[in-house]
Amino acid sequence: MQRLTPTHLDPRSPLVLDTKDLPRRPGALRAVDRTAPAPEGLGVAMIGVPTGSELTLHLRMESVSEGVLVSGTASGRVVGECGRCLRTIDEPVEVQIQELFAYAHSTTDETTDEDEVGRLQGDLIDLEPPLRDAVVLSLPTTPLCREDCPGLCPDCGVPWDELPEGHGHDQVDPRWAALTQLTKQNTEE
Ligand SMILES: [Zn+2]
Ligand SMILES: [Zn+2]
Repeated sequence: MQRLTPTHLDPRSPLVLDTKDLPRRPGALRAVDRTAPAPEGLGVAMIGVPTGSELTLHLRMESVSEGVLVSGTASGRVVGECGRCLRTIDEPVEVQIQELFAYAHSTTDETTDEDEVGRLQGDLIDLEPPLRDAVVLSLPTTPLCREDCPGLCPDCGVPWDELPEGHGHDQVDPRWAALTQLTKQNTEE
């Protein structure tokens, strides 16, 4: 069968959903439970899902009059650096996905912009854009290892969490110490 919409999507890709078994009758449902390797650059500058790490998808595709509604969750882990103490953050993440993919030539297709709703490409759905949006929106611009992370000691740069209680730098700066020594010598002479 000749497809009207050209598609660049690979139906074997785990982030591509195939709707050919989903009846185009509003209310028809199909569950999609699978794992997928995380695509590149899934995150923000300081934190993100490592490329190739496992994402678990629990989704359902639902036929609606204008297209296919995809909803559910994607979970995996995010790795990054604490914005205060620079220690590694490695924690689980779960995001909600809900996105309408409009049928070609449906009213929705013809009355919305490309970036407002997704589009079916033939029978295929590209999950990557909504996944990317959901993950990026869920991540903080300044990730923290814990909410009240005290950061680093400004004098030695060691995370406060790793320093003994009462840590401080009472000693005079070594450069001043040398001067003090000189002054002392001068006075003694
Ligand atoms: Zn921290
Ligand atoms: Zn210190």
